[in-house]
Amino acid sequence: MSSAAPILLTPGPLTTSARTRQAMLVDWGSWDERFNQLTASVCSQLLAILNGAATHHCVPLQGSGTFAVEAAIGTLVPRNGKVLVLINGAYGKRLAQICEVLGRDFSTFETAEDEPCSAADVDRLLHADPAITHVALIHCETSTGLLNPLPQIAQVVKEHGKRLIVDAMSSFGALPIDAREVPFDALIAASGKCLEGVPGMGFVFAEKHALGAAQGNCHSLALDLFEQHEYMARTGQWRFTPPTHVVAALHEALLQYHEDGGLPARQRRYANNCQVLLDGMAELGLRSFLPAAIQAPIIVTFHAPTDPRYQFKAFYERVKAKGFILYPGKLTEVDTFRVGCIGHVDAAEMRAAVAAIAQALHAMQVLDI
Ligand SMILES: *Cc1c(COP(=O)(O)O)cnc(C)c1O
Repeated sequence: MSSAAPILLTPGPLTTSARTRQAMLVDWGSWDERFNQLTASVCSQLLAILNGAATHHCVPLQGSGTFAVEAAIGTLVPRNGKVLVLINGAYGKRLAQICEVLGRDFSTFETAEDEPCSAADVDRLLHADPAITHVALIHCETSTGLLNPLPQIAQVVKEHGKRLIVDAMSSFGALPIDAREVPFDALIAASGKCLEGVPGMGFVFAEKHALGAAQGNCHSLALDLFEQHEYMARTGQWRFTPPTHVVAALHEALLQYHEDGGLPARQRRYANNCQVLLDGMAELGLRSFLPAAIQAPIIVTFHAPTDPRYQFKAFYERVKAKGFILYPGKLTEVDTFRVGCIGHVDAAEMRAAVAAIAQALHAMQVLDI
C-alpha cells in the first residue's frame, strides 16, 4: 500500500477517482462561457437528483459545507423568525450555534446520540410553540452515522404550515430524497461527500418562493443566497471568484455518478461497503454503536476496545501506515472511533481496511475488545 496515497475512510474530504482529480488540471477563467456552462450543468444535474427542478433553485456557494448551512439559515430565516433545532449529535449542535451567532431566535430539542428525532416529537413541539417559523434537521448525523426520519418530519412540519431546513450534507446523492414528496424550503449538501467531488463548494436547494421572498434577510454580504442566485441567474457567473477547479471536478464526478447508475447504484455500493465493514469488524469482536435500523450506510461508529493498551492515536498511526485513514469518535460519553463507507471505494477496500485494523490491534496486543 503506497503511503503517498492513503485511502480516506472519512466523511469528507474522501477518496476521489483519478478521473475526478484529473479534471482539475485545467485553469478556467471565470468569464469563460464554457466554465459558466459547466456551472449551469452541475446545478441542473444536482436538481435532477432530487427531482427538484420545478420547485427549487440550486444555489452553489464557495466554501465548505458549513458555509452553505449558515447561508441557508441566514438567508431563509427572517430576522424575526424562530428556529426549532432538532439535535442528536455534533452537527445538530452546530445548527443551534449558527442560529445563536446569527442572532436568530431558536429553541432546541435534543435526543440521545443513538435516538432519532421522531415526527411525533416535532408535532408536539410545534403545537406547544406557535412562534416557531422554521424547523432545522440533520438528515444523516455524521457524528455517529444516525439517520433521522426526514420524510415523516417534513410532513408534520408542512401540516403545521412551518418551513423546513435540512442539512443533508452526508446523505445527498446516496440516500433518496424526492423534492416532489418531501416538502422543504432548503436542503443543503456539498461537493466533497457522496457525490465524490473534492471539497470547496456547498449548494443549497432553495424553494423558489421562499428564496424569492428572502431579499434583505441575510446578515452577510458573501453568504446571501438571494443575491448569489440573483446574480447568477442574471449573468450566468458566480458573484465572487468561483472555485473553478472544484466545479470542474464535481462536473466530472457527476458524469461518473451517472455512468455508474446514479443514486440507486451509489446507495447499493455504500450499503455494501457498510455491510462488509460491519461483518468484518464483528468478526474481530468490535461492536458498532448504533443498531442497524437507524444506521445510515455513510459512516459507522465503533466502540473502542476496552483494553488499556488501546489508544486511538497509536491505533490510527498503525492503520495509516497500512494505507487507511480512520476518523476519531465524536461522542462525549463513550470512547469510539469511526470508519467511513463513502468515497471512491468498494468492498475490496473495506475488507483491506478491516484486515489493517486487525493487524494494528494485534500488533498493539489489544486483546480485550
Ligand atoms: C460534513 C458535514 C457538514 C459540513 O462540514 P464542513 O466541515 O463545513 O464541510 C455539515 N453537516 C453534516 C451533517 C456533515 O456531514
